[in-house]
Amino acid sequence: MPALSPEALVAQAAEARATYARLAAAGLKLDMTRGKPSPAQLDLAEGMLALPGNRDVVTETGEDARNYGGLQGLPEARRLFGAMLGVPPDLLVVNENSSLAVMHDCIVWALLKGVPGGSSWVGKDVAFLCPVPGYDRHFALCEGFGIRLIPVAMDDEGPVMEEVERLVADPAVRGMWCVPTYSNPTGVTYSDATMRRLAAMKTAAPDFRLFWDNAYGVHHLTENRPAPHDILGLTAEAGNPDRAFIFASTSKITLAGAGLAFFAGSKANVAWYLEQAGRRTIGPDKLNQLRHTRFLRDLDGIHRHMAAHRRLLAPKFDAVLEALDTRLGGLGLARWTRPEGGYFITVEMVQGSAKRVVELARGLGIALTPAGATSPYGKDPTDSVLRLAPTYPTVDEVRAAAEGIALCIHLAALEAAGVGLAA
Ligand code: PMP
Repeated sequence: MPALSPEALVAQAAEARATYARLAAAGLKLDMTRGKPSPAQLDLAEGMLALPGNRDVVTETGEDARNYGGLQGLPEARRLFGAMLGVPPDLLVVNENSSLAVMHDCIVWALLKGVPGGSSWVGKDVAFLCPVPGYDRHFALCEGFGIRLIPVAMDDEGPVMEEVERLVADPAVRGMWCVPTYSNPTGVTYSDATMRRLAAMKTAAPDFRLFWDNAYGVHHLTENRPAPHDILGLTAEAGNPDRAFIFASTSKITLAGAGLAFFAGSKANVAWYLEQAGRRTIGPDKLNQLRHTRFLRDLDGIHRHMAAHRRLLAPKFDAVLEALDTRLGGLGLARWTRPEGGYFITVEMVQGSAKRVVELARGLGIALTPAGATSPYGKDPTDSVLRLAPTYPTVDEVRAAAEGIALCIHLAALEAAGVGLAA
């Protein structure tokens, strides 16, 4: 808390309390918990529902997309999404609708059978590095299979590499979660130098894998459109060609519940993946792949579609930032990210106050992701980080929610300084 006169603090608290009481009486019902696309975003893919259309079921290689087979995905789909991800089509697999499910399969197969260059993890002490703040579902996935979670700090170039390089000297560390572009939830994009170090670092575990979740590769919030990174090229160049398992999906491009999910990796990793996948299914939904390729057409089509998302999303992010700036700017009570892409804004507030902010917000009818969700085991030792998800509500709802949240952050900080609601 910056040095303010006691009178100034009391005046701030009085105003904040009055505003809180007024908002509490307004009976808001707002939800900023999950990074879901809004109905308007889903409507952007409305045209896809009529595709591939009556009798349009033959693929470019002359196969009937209605039938079994095509385990790796249609060539036209692998070409289109390979271009999007910066991955050669022969190193890409097109799956069903959820990349989280693909990650789950990889964890289970790694545990039971081992990945290329390794053996089963069953009965062994296995740990994953988790950049923090990070994605709660990544953490829950590992936790569910008894994999130890080791937090690693993030800075504005990605995970702090000195820490990572020190930790991977432990042979128990078999993997690391990475969201390299517009990270969930900080919006940080890993720098080239960080990616090179991740590709080249010496790991004690010979079968160490980067779980490279490129969920937000084309999800820009500004006109800047960084080229896709080339983690496969970097790992190959560094002599670690099998290091990266790449994941992505169209959940936040086309339809969150009916998109396409991708796996990519080295030749050995793709062969391994297909060997396991071939026992699990006789082939994916290729009509959905045709539907996607007919609708998006080419890389330009993807970028045009993402620009339409941006037009819906950027005003929501702006509304949050404006509300935070207006109430908290210059007070030194909180810091927040200004993401250039992705789905979240991260706010770091006075230590020990994040849970209280969630509680205060609940009192206003505003639902927030639980404090701690962005840390392994749901525990943020500093109790200072909250993830705001502004994509689903309307702009007006987002603005109202963000004003309420900024107020709660202010009030919680005043309480921490001994001048809160009870004063
Ligand atoms: N990875 C990250 C980083 C995400 O933020 C999300 C969605 N919130 C997912 C994966 C889930 O992806 P999918 O819908 O493809 O399972």
